[in-house]
Amino acid sequence: MLLGVSNIFRIKSLSLTRLLSVALLVVVLVSLSPIPSQAQQPAPVAPATTSPAATPTAGGVAGSATSAFGAQTQQGGLNIAVLDPAHGGTDPGARGTGGIRESEIVLDFAVQVRRALELQGFQVVQTRQGNENPSFDDRSATANAQRGAVFVTLHISSTGLPGTARVYVNSDLSPVANASGLIPWDRAQAPFLGLSKAFGDLVQGFLSQRFKGSPDTAQSASVRQLRTTAAPAIAVEVSSVTVEDRADLDRMAPGVAEAIARGAAAFRPSYVVAHSPGALP
Ligand SMILES: [Zn+2]
Repeated sequence: MLLGVSNIFRIKSLSLTRLLSVALLVVVLVSLSPIPSQAQQPAPVAPATTSPAATPTAGGVAGSATSAFGAQTQQGGLNIAVLDPAHGGTDPGARGTGGIRESEIVLDFAVQVRRALELQGFQVVQTRQGNENPSFDDRSATANAQRGAVFVTLHISSTGLPGTARVYVNSDLSPVANASGLIPWDRAQAPFLGLSKAFGDLVQGFLSQRFKGSPDTAQSASVRQLRTTAAPAIAVEVSSVTVEDRADLDRMAPGVAEAIARGAAAFRPSYVVAHSPGALP
């Protein structure tokens, strides 16, 4: 279940009001200039990565290893994936008649997605590890604290053909940067829309190979979580909580994980670091 802008105005009006009043700004120049040797640790809301496998090693992304797709990866490029199991805590997300809760399924999916990403050499940072419910802004803050990262938010829908999966990228946002290159927090995604679409199309391509009936390319939608994220960012939505047996969803997890990881690996050569917002696609 994806929350769009209209939902947010209804559900999270307090949060938006706070956002507007605080007028929190994102320094685009900093966001767009990954400095690998200074890659930041996750924000306090995200537990630090402890798995040894999460650290890129020789043969991983670091150095000049060749990916499964033959593309030369570059040192200091894309090496972090921020994984967001959506909902959680008091927000169960979509609920099926069989008692299936989106918030629980996405956490299980995240375990497999994480493993698949780590096998591709990514360091994975999760926005939640258990049944917590960080705010949209907390989750974006986790992503925005990274350098050289992609962001993936995981959802299970209540609609759509069971057994299919869709990738969404944020619909167009007007970048309202001022003369000093600052853009508002709630437009943080704007400079990354082109990269998000490229990343999303790659993941969707792998998903459509695995799950027949899925779209061929990523779709655009107003997704609240993506809007405040200053990184190539996608939402992956799996159908659906309406299955009678959750095993039907569990069986999809390895394929979804592989598609996301292969898509992220294939996206690496497209991850071009620019030194000014205007230079981005
Ligand atoms: Zn959802």
